[in-house]
Amino acid sequence: MTDIFAKYAGLAADIENLRRAAPRNPFGVVIERPLSATVGLIEGRETLLFGTNNYLGLSQSSVAAEAAIAAIRSEGVGTTGSRIANGTYALHKTLEHRLAETFRKRHCLVFSTGYQANLGTISALAGKDDILLLDADSHASIYDGSRLSQAQVIRFRHNDPEDLDRRLGRLKDHQGAKLIVVEGIYSMTGNVAPMKEFVEVKKAHGAWLLADEAHSFGVLGASGLGVAEAQGCETEVDFIVGTFSKSLGTVGGYCVSDHDGIELIRLCSRPYMFTASLPPEIIAATLGSLTEMQARPELREKLMANARQLHDGLKGLGLSVSTHVSPVVAVTLDNVEQAIAMWNRLLESGLYVNLSLPPATPTQNPLLRCSVMAAHETDQIAQAVGIFERVAGEYGLGR
Ligand code: PMP
Repeated sequence: MTDIFAKYAGLAADIENLRRAAPRNPFGVVIERPLSATVGLIEGRETLLFGTNNYLGLSQSSVAAEAAIAAIRSEGVGTTGSRIANGTYALHKTLEHRLAETFRKRHCLVFSTGYQANLGTISALAGKDDILLLDADSHASIYDGSRLSQAQVIRFRHNDPEDLDRRLGRLKDHQGAKLIVVEGIYSMTGNVAPMKEFVEVKKAHGAWLLADEAHSFGVLGASGLGVAEAQGCETEVDFIVGTFSKSLGTVGGYCVSDHDGIELIRLCSRPYMFTASLPPEIIAATLGSLTEMQARPELREKLMANARQLHDGLKGLGLSVSTHVSPVVAVTLDNVEQAIAMWNRLLESGLYVNLSLPPATPTQNPLLRCSVMAAHETDQIAQAVGIFERVAGEYGLGR
């Protein structure tokens, strides 16, 4: 019998090395219980959470929780079917209308996860005669959606409209459609896309533009719609994709658009059609979180003030941090062993952040990815910076 796992020998060796280098597996952390939005019980210790995507703290929203409980009581815990069979309830339509209205777009499709929103939208929009132009640092769901589409894929340099413009210039004679895919805020680095410039490029070349605002929805823009709104070009982005699993604190994804053709996707997007729809309690909780997000714009202000405090605090330690100020603050390190050891010391000191190792990082450097929430107190951020200072000092880093 051929060993079906033989292809993972390299991975097994990497995991073994990881275990030897440090007492715990950084990819196997268990949050035994969230005690609040900002503190979780890890290894029996109260640990500051600075590595989630819970930007507005809404995963702990009582408004959302009460809405979920009421929905379970009245409609049950699951739909048992896909959106095109028995899985569309009035609640799904209500959420789609709410999101379309929120984004001031005509159409909205809700998917079961953000991953599936990208997979389902990109794979259905781009056909085998079309070309997809992807920012090189795109999320896995964008790459996977591209593969499923069978379209030709061209990568352009991260956040570089000029490189995109050059590449589109070489495709003048191409007959099929050209779809550019970018993100709003990049999840690993906190980099913000120059969306307005991408819009100019797409217009110059008759291309389409899809923006994944997964990490920027609820975070940037006058009404929290994301980077496109913040840069005043949301009406010119053809498709906006996003997720409920970050600022709204639940789970699920969506695509909004003014193009009527997007409705056809409901009948040809496999990740939309062949999976169970979101359960009623998740839809109800998401509607609750959306109401909270809209009723409390001060959450966004607090979030950005917190982002600046964390960014400036870590930069002040002399660490190499992201250039953009956003709720994601990544500390770039030189080598993997050091990154793993530091990540362990941070956790032992009561601070949870994310460890990102190459090849999952944009450059060949490992990252300690930190993220803030509106729910963090100024003191908690100061504590986190203090822990970083001690641990960085142990490794001879920083000032
Ligand atoms: N897009 C981006 C940019 C993401 O970072 C993520 C999640 N990390 C997703 C899509 C997928 O979203 P979800 O986890 O809600 O499926």
